[in-house]
Amino acid sequence: MAQINSHYLQLSQNYLFSEVARRIAAFQAANPDSKIIKMSIGDVTRPLCPAAVEALHKAADDQSRPETFHGYGPEQGYAFLAEKIRDFDYAPRGVKLEADEIFISDGAKSDLGNIGDIFATDCRVAVTDPVYPVYVDTNVMLGRSITYLPCTEANDFVPQFPAEPVDLIYLCYPNNPTGTTLNRTQLQQWVDYARQTGAVILFDSAYECFITEADVPHSIYELEGAKECAIEFRSYSKTAGFTGLRCGYTVVPHALRGTDEQGNTVELNQLWRRRQTTKFNGASYPIQRAAEAIYTPEGQAQVRETVDYYLNNARLLREGIEAAGLTCRGGVNAPYVWVKTPEGLGSWEFFDLLLQRANVACTPGVGFGPSGEGYVRLTAFNTLEATLEAMQRIMNYEL
Ligand SMILES: *Cc1c(COP(=O)(O)O)cnc(C)c1O
Repeated sequence: MAQINSHYLQLSQNYLFSEVARRIAAFQAANPDSKIIKMSIGDVTRPLCPAAVEALHKAADDQSRPETFHGYGPEQGYAFLAEKIRDFDYAPRGVKLEADEIFISDGAKSDLGNIGDIFATDCRVAVTDPVYPVYVDTNVMLGRSITYLPCTEANDFVPQFPAEPVDLIYLCYPNNPTGTTLNRTQLQQWVDYARQTGAVILFDSAYECFITEADVPHSIYELEGAKECAIEFRSYSKTAGFTGLRCGYTVVPHALRGTDEQGNTVELNQLWRRRQTTKFNGASYPIQRAAEAIYTPEGQAQVRETVDYYLNNARLLREGIEAAGLTCRGGVNAPYVWVKTPEGLGSWEFFDLLLQRANVACTPGVGFGPSGEGYVRLTAFNTLEATLEAMQRIMNYEL
C-alpha cells in the first residue's frame, strides 16, 4: 500500500461549522415553531450585480461562435482583466504594478493554500490568533510548525511580533473573524519588521472593499518597502458576490525575492508563475469577463451599493450589540462584528444562550483559535430585514 502524507493526520477536525449546524438543527427540532436567524453565515446573500450577469451572458455567446470562441487561456489570467486590476485597484492608490505581477485565479482560498508550494518545507510560519483556518491547515499539511500571535483586548487586537524568528507571516486585514484593521503606522511596522528579518508577509486583503476609514491601507503596497517583502491576495467573492463564480488574484512583485539552498536570490514571481502554469489552467473566460465588468462605471456603482448594504447591516449589528449592553469590535471596515461574551460565559455557552433566548445563531470565536475564546462572531451578510429582527430580539431578551 502507498504511504500517505501523515501530516494530514495532524489536522485538527474542523468541527466548528458542523457543530454550529448540529446545535441549530437540534434546537429547531426541539422548538419547531421558533424562527432561527442565522447571523453565522459566512457566504454573501445578495445576487451578482447586473453588469457581471450581462458580461456572463455575452461571454457565453462568445463561446458559441468560432470567431469569438476561447479555449485554454493564459494560466495567469487574461490581460484584459489584469490591466483593469492594475489601473483600477492599484494605480489610484499610488501603487504601480506591472500586469505580469498580477496572477488571476479561481479565488483567494486556493492561492492562499497553494502559495506554500514555493517556500521550503521547513519554513517557520506565524499566524494571528484567532485565524482564518486555511492558513493553518495548509501549512500543517506540509508539516510546518506554526507560531500563534494572539490578538485580544489586551493588545487592542494588534498582533505583536513573534518571539522567535519566522519565515512566513499571514496577515488578514480587514480581519476575518474579528473585523479589526491595522492602520498605516501599524502595518508599516510589520513591513519594516519583515524587511529586517527577511520574512515574507502573505497579506490577505479579501475584505478590502469594506474599508471606510481613511487611515486603513487598502493595499499593503501603499507602504514603503512592501514590494520587497509581501504577497497580496484579493478576491471578488466578498467584493462582488463571486463566491459561486470563483475569481480572485494574487500579486507577486518582481522586487520580492527569496534565497535558494546556496544562498542565491530568486524572484518569487518567477516561482509562482512556474507553479501556476504547471498546476493551474486559468480561471474560466466567462468568469474573467464577469470580473472585468465590475470595473465599468455601472459595475462599480452596483458593487458599491451591495457593499454599502452589508456595511449598513454591520452598523446595525454594532448598535444593537451595544444597546444590549455588550461590547464588540469590527463592523466599521468589515462585514464582521466580534462580540465579547458576557462576564463568565465561554464562546459556546454564549452561542447556546443566544440561540435559546433570541433564536439567533452566531459563530463561537473559540472555533477560530484559542484567543477567540470569550467571543462570538456575527456577520453582516444576512438581509437587512433579518439583521434588524435579530438585533431587536437581542435587545429584547435579557442575555
Ligand atoms: C472569504 C475569504 C477569502 C476569499 O476566498 P475565495 O476563495 O476567494 O472565495 C479569503 N480570505 C478570507 C479570510 C476570507 O474570509
